[in-house]
Amino acid sequence: MFLSPGFFSLAAYALIGALISIQPAHADVSRCYGTVAMGRLEGGVKLPTDGANFSAYSELAVAAGRTYVHAKVADVIVASYAALQASTPGVHYVYGETGWAAGGSFKPHRTHQNGLSVDFFVPVRDAQGRSVPLPTSPLTRFGYDMEFDAEARHGEHRIDFPALAEHLYALHRAARAQGVGIARVIFDTAYLPALFATPRGPSLRQHLPFMKGKPWVRHDEHYHVDFALACRPDDRGPASGRTRTG
Ligand SMILES: [Zn+2]
Repeated sequence: MFLSPGFFSLAAYALIGALISIQPAHADVSRCYGTVAMGRLEGGVKLPTDGANFSAYSELAVAAGRTYVHAKVADVIVASYAALQASTPGVHYVYGETGWAAGGSFKPHRTHQNGLSVDFFVPVRDAQGRSVPLPTSPLTRFGYDMEFDAEARHGEHRIDFPALAEHLYALHRAARAQGVGIARVIFDTAYLPALFATPRGPSLRQHLPFMKGKPWVRHDEHYHVDFALACRPDDRGPASGRTRTG
């Protein structure tokens, strides 16, 4: 078989194009310091307020600057939503609090300090079985005060466990593809059997570190994910007067 030199240059251009197109949107713009419980962030990136299949929990909170993350975490989150458009078409996802652009104390959360912690609200279906955004109004402290019952219901809304499982699976895949780890997932342990009973359940159980103990607040209306990246020591340290938040 004979291939002209032109073919090789075309192939090279195609390869270069492919490599450029899979480059993350944000190269190395963020640096994290310390831990999720005591740390800070430089070059934090604001998550997109919404997309085809997702939205932020509150425009007010977005405007207040509460949805910044490490750039690599932003890339993982955006990639996971893109993947979900194929795997769970028609499902609407809502994300919650993440952190400040510069990290640090983020009340009332105990963590969320270095751009690696993200809260996601549970995907829900209404009485007609439609996937709808969880109503996260200021009246329920932007959704955080909602209480789901033992049947995973709140009013006419019920948690869509298969959609939630697909989201965690997409996060796991997107994180792994971009060299980001997942250090911890917090979700109400009473709901884990329902989550593990979904098609993605066995994979989640195998790959994701679910917190087994009782967290300091109930995680029924949202699930919390700590991503894992190599962060520098927080050189400012406790001597700067910053304390672990309550
Ligand atoms: Zn959280």
